[in-house]
Amino acid sequence: MQDAVVITGSAAGLGRALVDILSSQGVDVIGIDKNKGADVNADLSTPEGRELAVAKVLDICSTPRGVVANAGLSPIHHDPLEIFEVNWLGVKNLLDSFLLPLASNNNGCAVAISSIGAAVGGNKDLIDCLLEGNIKDARSIINALLNSNPTEAGIVTYSSCKVAVALYVRTNAKHWAEAGVRLNCVAPGRMETAMLDGLLSHDEIAPGIEALPVGVAKSASASQVARAVDFFLKPASSFVHGQILYVDGGSEALLRPHVI
Ligand code: NAD
Repeated sequence: MQDAVVITGSAAGLGRALVDILSSQGVDVIGIDKNKGADVNADLSTPEGRELAVAKVLDICSTPRGVVANAGLSPIHHDPLEIFEVNWLGVKNLLDSFLLPLASNNNGCAVAISSIGAAVGGNKDLIDCLLEGNIKDARSIINALLNSNPTEAGIVTYSSCKVAVALYVRTNAKHWAEAGVRLNCVAPGRMETAMLDGLLSHDEIAPGIEALPVGVAKSASASQVARAVDFFLKPASSFVHGQILYVDGGSEALLRPHVI
C-alpha cells in the first residue's frame, strides 16, 4: 500500500468519523487503536505499544501520505500518568517516528489533535517538562498533583498535554518544513463523543464544561470536526503549516479575544 493516511484512536469518536470520511473518498486508511475495529491493534500507553504500532503501520505502508495523532484519554480517566502516556507520548513519539516516512512521500503531512483545554491552560512546570523531554520530573509533578487532588490531577494533566501538543506543532514547524512535511493541529471544543458524555456525567467536571462560552453552536458532531482535519490532509491546505485551528464554534475566541 502507498499513500495511506494513518489515524490513531480510529475505533471511536473523532478517529472513527475521520476514517469514514476518508474511506468514502477512496483514501486508504490505516487505523490504530487499543480496541477492536482497527487495522493495527496497539496500546499507545506503553513504549512497546507505540513501537509496535509504528512498525506494523510501516509494514503495511512504508510511505504514508498522512498521520493524524488523535488517540486521547479523557481528563476523568482514573490514571493521570496514563493520560500523560497516551495524550503526550502517544502523540509526540508517533509524530517523531513518522516524520521520515512522511518525508518520503511528496505530499506528506500530519495533524495533531489538541483541545479547547489548551486555551484554558495547564501547569507551566509540567508543560515545560513535557516539551523538554524531562519525563522523570513530569511524572513527579503528576504524582504530586495526584496526591493532593485526583480529579484536579486528571484535568491539569490533560490540559497540560494538550498545550504541549499544540506547542509541539508550533515549535517543530521549522524542523518539519525542512523535511518538506506539513504539520498542523486541530483543537476541538465540545464534540459529541463518548468522551464528552463521560465529562458531562461527572459531577465535578460538568460545571466547568457547561461554563465554556458558547459561540455559534454549543457542540459539534465528530464528523463536523473531522472535516476540518480532512482539510489539513488535503492539497487545498498546501500552504498551511504550523497552525492551531480551534474547531469549537468560537469558544476560544470568546474566551481570549485578544490572543491571535
Ligand atoms: P473517544 O474516547 O470517543 O475515542 C478515543 C479513541 O482513542 C478510542 O477509540 C480509544 O480506544 C482510543 N484510545 C484511547 N487510548 C488509547 C490507547 N492507549 N491506545 C490506542 N488507542 C487508544 O474520544 P474523542 O472524543 O473521539 O477524542 C478524540 C480526540 O479529541 C482526543 O485526543 C481528545 O482529547 C480530543 N478532544 C475531544 C473533545 C470532546 O469533546 N470529545 C474535545 C476536545 C478534544
